[in-house]
This record gives sequence, C-alpha cells and structure tokens, in this order.
Amino acid sequence: MPTDRDIVQLMFDFLQGKNAAGLIFDGPHPLSLTADQAWIAIHRIQELNCALSDTIERCGNCGDLYDSDSEGIYDESVSPFNFCGDPCRPEVCHAD
Ligand SMILES: [Zn+2]
Repeated sequence: MPTDRDIVQLMFDFLQGKNAAGLIFDGPHPLSLTADQAWIAIHRIQELNCALSDTIERCGNCGDLYDSDSEGIYDESVSPFNFCGDPCRPEVCHAD
C-alpha cells in the first residue's frame, strides 16, 4: 500500500519527466518540468482539494519530500523554513 508520501513523490517525479509507475504514452514522456515547477503544481493541487495529502512537504534545503505528520521540522526563524530533518537545518548544516 503506497503511503501519501509515495503518491506525492510519484506525481512529483512524473511532472519532471520520470516514469517510475511504468505508464504508457503514445510518444515520449509529455512533461519535463523542473523540480521547482513540479513542486508549484503539486502545492497548488494540495491547496485545491484532497486528492493529494497536504501533509507532504518539500524540504527547503535538499528538495526531498517528507510527511510533516511524522517527520521534518518547521522553523520560522530561518529561511527556508521547512526541512526534512535535522541535518538539513541551516544552523546544523553550517555548524562544522
Ligand atoms: Zn532535506
């Protein structure tokens, strides 16, 4: 059973021209958005309805997706403000 994160990841990858789901097209993959463009599309869909879980966020540092229900950090004192985990927080990244 795919998780919400799996489903959003699949959509995120699909919008960037990847096809992990093995979908069949009449020609080449019809899409090739950048990661930022793909995330804008997903974020808008999340806001519009319940088809995609709105707890799936994109890390402001590494760009990976994560489920804010069970992982990640939200910290408005830094920018970007959402991270998949401690190693991605700017003050941790630059601590060395
Ligand atoms: Zn991250």
